[in-house]
Amino acid sequence: MFKIPFNLPFIAPESEINILDALRSHSHCGNHKWCMATVELLKEKYGFFDIFLTPSGTSALEMGAILSDIGPGDQVIMPSYTFSSTANAILLQGGQPIFCEINPDTMNIDVRQIDALITSKTKMILPIDYAGIPCDIDEINIIARKYNLKVMVDSAQSLGSQYSDGRYCGSVSPLAAFSFHETKNFSCGEGGALVVNDPTLIERARFIQEKGTDRSLVLSGVKNKYGWVDKGSSFLLSDILASILYTQIQNSEVILELRKMVYQAYQSALEIYEKKNILKIPIIKNGLINNYHAFFIIFDNEKNRDLFLKNLRDLQIFAYIGYVPLHSSKMGMKLGYQSEDLSLTENISKRIVRMPLYAQLADSKSLDYLINSVETVLSKIYRTN
Ligand SMILES: *Cc1c(COP(=O)(O)O)cnc(C)c1O
Repeated sequence: MFKIPFNLPFIAPESEINILDALRSHSHCGNHKWCMATVELLKEKYGFFDIFLTPSGTSALEMGAILSDIGPGDQVIMPSYTFSSTANAILLQGGQPIFCEINPDTMNIDVRQIDALITSKTKMILPIDYAGIPCDIDEINIIARKYNLKVMVDSAQSLGSQYSDGRYCGSVSPLAAFSFHETKNFSCGEGGALVVNDPTLIERARFIQEKGTDRSLVLSGVKNKYGWVDKGSSFLLSDILASILYTQIQNSEVILELRKMVYQAYQSALEIYEKKNILKIPIIKNGLINNYHAFFIIFDNEKNRDLFLKNLRDLQIFAYIGYVPLHSSKMGMKLGYQSEDLSLTENISKRIVRMPLYAQLADSKSLDYLINSVETVLSKIYRTN
């Protein structure tokens, strides 16, 4: 029997050589050779104005919140169906997360419900690209312009995804945060990046990344001594980790192609259940291009969802339940939310499953085992064949 874990990080063939190079360079801290090369590669490939490599997706969000001047009293609208980091980035600056419902087709923020949440304290909209599916950024940008709000996208999962006009996720909003955590498509263990597309924010982003100092001006030869000029933290990725990340980005087409094979195998196996309206699978609207970060299934009820997970686990296949909504989590309750406040998010989160998805699964033997097992378990639950 095969064992199919939820995730396995991809290892690019050249990474060992590159790590040794980084190690022997004796320049191991941030913004050295491999960081610079990775930044250039990312800018060129995805059309970002500028990008700052950070120790995690979480810290990229925090850096973005500081850069957006989020402070006490400021409200930030975000989905409840997301990771704790999205909300923590705002809380840590004294801001208040305001949770919005999702659109069940994509599990992303329901843009039709944002307007009703806007108050005189609203400062920013912070959507996410769940499962790598781009959120409705054009609609969000229109709302933001109308009410003079900032926008940062938690793009932790969506590097390589594209809007229908070809633009890449992260290239459209003023700020976007990526994650290069082990569980993401492209990873260096722990890592992240803040994309800054607004030219007026670049200099300050450099200060914030370097612990609130103008060290960047010394490195670029403008000054000969640096000092404390702003808020900030240590938002730098080590050059050793950047050497790993570089090879992942270089191999991005290969990684996406392999993930696509797995994604499409799930899609064909589940289509009949989707057509019969028993299960829901991701709906990628016309023209959007997915990076195949995740494949989710929404079951008809919690009981069948749990039965599916248990049966797969007995076959050594490790699927997961997805996020516990933030509004009804322990911390959400402390912030004054109740589980009924976002009933759709609450309801769907009890019925969703995220399937194992990683490049190495495209190997035909494991993929056959996985898909056959999924089909067998589903036909047992729904008595079809
Ligand atoms: C992974 C993830 C994060 C956190 O990224 P880290 O690199 O693990 O800090 C934040 N938001 C979303 C939506 C994520 O998927």
